[in-house]
Amino acid sequence: MTPLKMELENISFTYNIKPVLNDLSVFIQENDFIGLIGPNGSGKSTLLKVMSAIIKPDSGSIKFKGSETRNINKKNFAQSVSWIPQGHPMVFPFKVSEVVLMGRHPYLSPLSFESHEDFKISQRAMQTTMTSHFSDRLFNEISEGEKQRVMIASALAQNPELLLLDEPTSALDLKYQIEIMSILKDLNTNHKMTLVVAMHDLNLASRFCNRIILLNDGKIVSDGTPLKVLQKDILEEVYGIELDLYSKNGHTLIHPTIGK
Ligand code: ADP
Ligand code: MG
Repeated sequence: MTPLKMELENISFTYNIKPVLNDLSVFIQENDFIGLIGPNGSGKSTLLKVMSAIIKPDSGSIKFKGSETRNINKKNFAQSVSWIPQGHPMVFPFKVSEVVLMGRHPYLSPLSFESHEDFKISQRAMQTTMTSHFSDRLFNEISEGEKQRVMIASALAQNPELLLLDEPTSALDLKYQIEIMSILKDLNTNHKMTLVVAMHDLNLASRFCNRIILLNDGKIVSDGTPLKVLQKDILEEVYGIELDLYSKNGHTLIHPTIGK
């Protein structure tokens, strides 16, 4: 059996009084490429934050490679698990290369400077994400698709085993969506990285992910291969609209029913 990367068991989380994650269990296997789907407000971002230890669940257990995360040294965990939030809140005028180098932060000792090795790893991350040619430009002045690639480069510089991304393709046009998903697929296939990607586009999830987790109201409705999870009746109930499903080259294609 494939080793487990992260085990979340009976996780519940409440903001104020509203339950957002409700007794939810997920086992992430090594080298999974999981598409986390579900309507707005279903708990995708909250689940990613729990996985990345940004927030603590009210109850339940989280293990990373067999150890309870609360017993793992924070620095070691930060080197192993990387989270890319939705959007790009950065407002400071950093250069692209500086943003990527920030990914090395969990490896630095207090007050120490980046080493030659840190620069080399950052450069490799920029090559993988095709961002080297604009490394001297300001992050605030590049396009959304370029920003997303830089965020991925920065996460790669961290050299994580588990990469968590919150809607990396949502602000992008079709070409950039495919480009980002192809970069992620390459990391999964050729760099053995485990990925969990919150996303809205069911067709992209179907085409690129080996596993899909469908959330609704803080619970897992379905978890399995795209062929298993992307079923007309389940999706219509969760999203509350009529859908047409097709099969092409072994992938499921979905779009809202038009003209009814
Ligand atoms: P998704 O990413 O699937 O859209 P979220 O995890 O962002 O869902 O949100 C799940 C629920 O938690 C929503 O009802 C949302 O309003 C609520 N929520 C999210 N963040 C906060 C917050 N900081 N404070 C209070 N409620 C929140
Ligand atoms: Mg979200």
